Amino acid sequence: MTPTDFVQHPYLDTDGDKLREECGVFGVIGARDAAAVTALGLHALQHRGQEAAGITSFDGTEFYSRRGTGHVAENFSTGEALAQLPGEMAAGHVRYSTTGGAGLRNVQPLYADLASGGFAIAHNGNISNAMHLRAELVRKGAIFQSTSDTEVIIHLVATSRYPTMLDRFVDALRLVEGAYSLVVMTNKGMVACRDPLGIRPLVMGRVGDAVVFASETVALDIIGAEFEREIEPGELVEVDFDGTIRSTRPFGRPSARPCIFEHVYFSRPDSISDGRSVYSVRKAIGEQLAIESPADADIVIPVPDSGVPAAIGYAQQSGVPFELGIIRSHYVGRTFIQPSDGQRNSSVARKHNANRALVAGKRIILIDDSIVRGTTSLKIVQMMRDAGAREVHMRIASPPTMHSCFYGVDTPERSKLLAARMDVQAMQEFIQADSLAFVSIDGLYRAVGIEQRKATCPQYCDACFTGEYPTTLTDVSERVNPQLSFADNTLNGSEKTTRGKSVGEKAA
Ligand code: AMP
Repeated sequence: MTPTDFVQHPYLDTDGDKLREECGVFGVIGARDAAAVTALGLHALQHRGQEAAGITSFDGTEFYSRRGTGHVAENFSTGEALAQLPGEMAAGHVRYSTTGGAGLRNVQPLYADLASGGFAIAHNGNISNAMHLRAELVRKGAIFQSTSDTEVIIHLVATSRYPTMLDRFVDALRLVEGAYSLVVMTNKGMVACRDPLGIRPLVMGRVGDAVVFASETVALDIIGAEFEREIEPGELVEVDFDGTIRSTRPFGRPSARPCIFEHVYFSRPDSISDGRSVYSVRKAIGEQLAIESPADADIVIPVPDSGVPAAIGYAQQSGVPFELGIIRSHYVGRTFIQPSDGQRNSSVARKHNANRALVAGKRIILIDDSIVRGTTSLKIVQMMRDAGAREVHMRIASPPTMHSCFYGVDTPERSKLLAARMDVQAMQEFIQADSLAFVSIDGLYRAVGIEQRKATCPQYCDACFTGEYPTTLTDVSERVNPQLSFADNTLNGSEKTTRGKSVGEKAA
């Protein structure tokens, strides 16, 4: 079966591929107009990826696929677009962008015709031995169509010697290390699966007779589906066309390590993650911040939107009034996704404006969720001073981001992380604040409801703050020890590697 592909700009990025991470996945089986349902679900996940969107559907005979750069609404809002995606099963993907070319060949779901039939896959996460596996596969003759690490899974499934598709899929995943929440479609049904540590989120719901999988519960809300449960770490859930659901745990039951940064920043505040309201967790982080790092000030101001819940928590805990001192334009996307530092700087200015009448003459406490490169904080502090703020005390609702993420949250290489280069005092001087403080790692754990972070096997993946990575990082160590790496590196020189990873582009 060949998918009918309506790709609009094929192979936009023939060079300059870079890693892009953190995406959203959605899948539905047993729904009339599955593609329309998927488009709605993706719409609710748009915050997880704004570079590109794709949907693949199956009508019982054929797979159909449509992928495009830009937002979900730009690609899937018309009846005409959705009419090209018939069937009662569909999977979709939104993709995050950082820098570099658009890379439509990496836009998911990826699709392949395997010996056993069609195979479509949507992936959120990052495979930390993808380069290693890819080199081995290429050496054996595999020809890759994309630079996405996800394609490695397809090749591993294709070359597995197990008889059934499911066994081949499990066989493939046993070779894969890192983070993956996957939604897969075959001509037998849908499979959803979460990596053994459950690093990236994946939930399951129902609407009528249809079964739904999504990165976050907000995607269930938008289609009127009932939240059923989270897919367990290491769990694989199969759903047939007759609605039969089978759950297996092929990877045993290692201790879960979900990503704590989903709570800090990535998930929408109206989502429920690990059984906790993301909004409540963010408020609780703000409360912890107020306890740990009070400041003598007149008002608490959030950096919208990411700092809002923590600022409410900080204000309530400290008794300092919450005020909107920065007004956000809703017509500019996340600043972080702008390709270059120049564009990032100007979009901070386009996105935020000081509420001068409020700020002038005040001592303010500014709250944001995180400092990565420092671009946002520097601009915002300056903006507050230009608006007449007397003192600017910056409080950050996460510990310093000191380490790169290899599991699907886009953080730049370490050298670009402000906290990897400077201590808190130097960061304060860099952003030109009167004071700067971050919530402690223990405070963050208390906010997610855990009294004590376990020293040996922490309850979350917090590697971006602590550097304690919960899996081996084969591609990183092979780069650190070049003698370990393969001679016939298939990636050409233009495929820059950030953070030690070298699969040219990630489409998680
Ligand atoms: P920066 O300006 O580089 O310091 O980035 C910090 C801002 O980007 C914060 O206001 C966050 O809300 C946001 N942010 C933090 N981490 C990420 C990420 N992985 N992807 C996108 N945005 C992020």
